[in-house]
Amino acid sequence: MSRTSAVKDAEVAVVGLGAWGACALWQLARHGIDAIGIDRYGIGNVHGSSHGESRMFRTACLEHPGLVPLARRSRELWAELEAESGEVLMERIGAMLIGPREGRIVGGALTAARQHGLDVELLDAAAMRRRAPAHAGLTDGQVGVLEPAGGLTYPERTIAAAVGAARRAGARVFTDTRVTAVEPGDDGISVHTPLRRLLVRSVVVAAGPWLSQLVPGLPLDVVRMPTTWFTPAAAEPRFTLERLPVFMRELADGEVIWGHGTLPGRSELKLGLEDGGRNFRTVDPEGMDRSVSPDDWSVLARILPDAVPGVGALPSRATANLYARTPDGQFVLGPLAADPRIVVAGGCNSHGFKHATGIGEVVAGLVRGRPPAFPLGFADPNRFSRSPVGPRPTPSSAAL
Ligand SMILES: Cc1cc2nc3c(=O)[nH]c(=O)nc-3n(C[C@H](O)[C@H](O)[C@H](O)COP(=O)(O)OP(=O)(O)OC[C@H]3O[C@@H](n4cnc5c(N)ncnc54)[C@H](O)[C@@H]3O)c2cc1C
Repeated sequence: MSRTSAVKDAEVAVVGLGAWGACALWQLARHGIDAIGIDRYGIGNVHGSSHGESRMFRTACLEHPGLVPLARRSRELWAELEAESGEVLMERIGAMLIGPREGRIVGGALTAARQHGLDVELLDAAAMRRRAPAHAGLTDGQVGVLEPAGGLTYPERTIAAAVGAARRAGARVFTDTRVTAVEPGDDGISVHTPLRRLLVRSVVVAAGPWLSQLVPGLPLDVVRMPTTWFTPAAAEPRFTLERLPVFMRELADGEVIWGHGTLPGRSELKLGLEDGGRNFRTVDPEGMDRSVSPDDWSVLARILPDAVPGVGALPSRATANLYARTPDGQFVLGPLAADPRIVVAGGCNSHGFKHATGIGEVVAGLVRGRPPAFPLGFADPNRFSRSPVGPRPTPSSAAL
């Protein structure tokens, strides 16, 4: 990976310090690599994919069985980041996947569990009603898969912890600095910013929804996804995080809702709708209208009175998030064939937070010339140029 003779500003630049870039910077710095991290906004900003206070963590990865080892490794690394930062970054309270036994959500989780020997508990509808009584309207054919190793992660806190640990290990961080171009040259990679050009040996581009701006040619759509919180009429025990752990639930009509009970010291439930295609639209992340409107929750508000009754008809809070979608629903992760000094980490398809710490380690390894400890060929960013781009994912294939 070294065509360079003159390394000027650092060995590696990480462009984008959302969840993936922050963890990559942490891993590079803790391995003694001289690294610079750059973000166009602040640390833990609200502009991309990584804001909104909570994310589901699970190792039962229905999106691809090959993601299970990555999630397992991520869980270990989360504990290391917690030890390094002294912060609680994950609530290890279990995660639930609910729906018809042969459906996409439960079926996918059970396949991943079987293939990788994951510890999961299958709860029939009666057991679900006792364990998680906030879930109403469960018919007898519907089951819950409880994964005790799952839980809830705190995105903004995780990013701040990773950047903090990277800084303590020697990384330099520039915020409010937009990278305008990444340009390969004979003496290194030039990372252009409005103030100056940085010359580095290699670069990690982890720009989330903006990745295509810096690495054109990747088939990425940017999807606008609302996040909504609801305040129950009364603070009942069934709405606490312990009784309503983080979940995805496939309803009888195929619609998928997700969310979790109240966080410690809070009164709101987070509840959302999976990308139903008809609700979420693709956008240009530049200058996008971030205001929310009833369009963002009208479908959900019709579903909740039957599925999670008692939470109120209107959200108490709403935000707009973005994520990058690939045609096959898998990440783009690895060196570019055109220039392997450029490693991309993006295309999260709205299920990538749980892998952030593991992806940071994978990316840092690739930059150091070390292949991942497990096969990740399905995420090769060059796969689209080798074969014709396949069909767009079905709207229901996005997950959390
Ligand atoms: C509503 C929602 C819910 C989700 N729920 C879950 C869940 O429950 N579980 C799960 O595992 N995943 C979930 N995901 C997915 C997960 O949040 C993302 O996969 C993850 O946060 C991706 O982070 P990222 O670092 O790739 O992108 P981002 O967080 O968007 O980071 C990209 C960063 O790059 C910076 N940047 C962009 N362009 C430039 C530039 N030119 N110069 C400098 N900096 C730049 C941006 O400012 C930003 O900080 C969800 C996603 C959404 C949107």
